[in-house]
Amino acid sequence: MTGTAPTRCGFAAIIGAPNAGKSTLVNRLVGSKVAIVSPKVQTTRARVLGIALVGQVQIVWVDTPGIFEPRRRLERAMVATAWKGAEDADLMIHLVDAQRGLDADARRIMEQLGAAGRKAILALNKIDAIRPERLLPLVAEMTQSGVYSETFMISALTGDGVADLAARVAERMPEGPWLYPEDQIADMPQRLLAAEITREKLFLQLHDELPYATAVETETWEEHRDGSVRIGQVIYVMRPSQKAIVLGRGGARIKAISVAARQEIAEVLGRRVHLVLFVKERPNWQDEPEAYEIQGIDWSAGER
Ligand code: GDP
Ligand code: MG
Repeated sequence: MTGTAPTRCGFAAIIGAPNAGKSTLVNRLVGSKVAIVSPKVQTTRARVLGIALVGQVQIVWVDTPGIFEPRRRLERAMVATAWKGAEDADLMIHLVDAQRGLDADARRIMEQLGAAGRKAILALNKIDAIRPERLLPLVAEMTQSGVYSETFMISALTGDGVADLAARVAERMPEGPWLYPEDQIADMPQRLLAAEITREKLFLQLHDELPYATAVETETWEEHRDGSVRIGQVIYVMRPSQKAIVLGRGGARIKAISVAARQEIAEVLGRRVHLVLFVKERPNWQDEPEAYEIQGIDWSAGER
């Protein structure tokens, strides 16, 4: 680094309802895939960090699980993780799916922000998919709450407006040394990232409730001399019938999941990958602290 300007660095948390586009936005901001994305809600379970430089400012973007009304322990832990990530940050961005508008989830977040007395940046997402005349009333209604310091309209998918948002967030980051080396873009351990990618493929290829019943653990990680890595992962399911579905007829489903996951893990790691998947029944994993830990979720956060 050159020059005498002090460095700046801070945490910017992205909160929002499930499916608002938080993970898509973090990937876009970082310019690489650090968070998994799927059309299904609640894909992101743990807190994911994406790190990016804007000029001389290092911004640590915090992708949080969606905030919604939790029922089960896993859901409570996810929502608590999301709020914790937000409260610890220097700045909060409330990302709203403009297509859905101010629905119950978005309203609850707005009210909780108001109750916490912290101003957030409002970012209306998915403007590529909505007519402009629908945006203005939404902006008007949300800014009236007094909860937001400013509003951006973006498309995390196309990148529209994202650079403006990032530039503004950079301006508001506190002075301080960079927390990460300048080329680091994520701080998720590679084992966990590899498991998350496989979990994303489960979400994309399985239907209904089944993805929510699964968890993925990277069990083995063998470095080979030719530069490749052999990764062994276990997919936990809760019932025998689920195992049969994940395997598919003649093992076709697990094969397709494995091929897709291997390709992407190899891409992200920048090396050849040999991926071996096992499917195991673990009926009560959602009640086991260890199963939370392997997914990077705080078990105690799910306490009532
Ligand atoms: P999250 O649950 O908030 O992390 O949302 P994701 O990032 O997983 O995205 C949920 C879905 O919305 C995915 O199918 C994304 O492709 C889609 N999506 C995200 N951002 C945009 C956007 O700007 N425009 C459109 N049309 N779709 C988007
Ligand atoms: Mg997500």
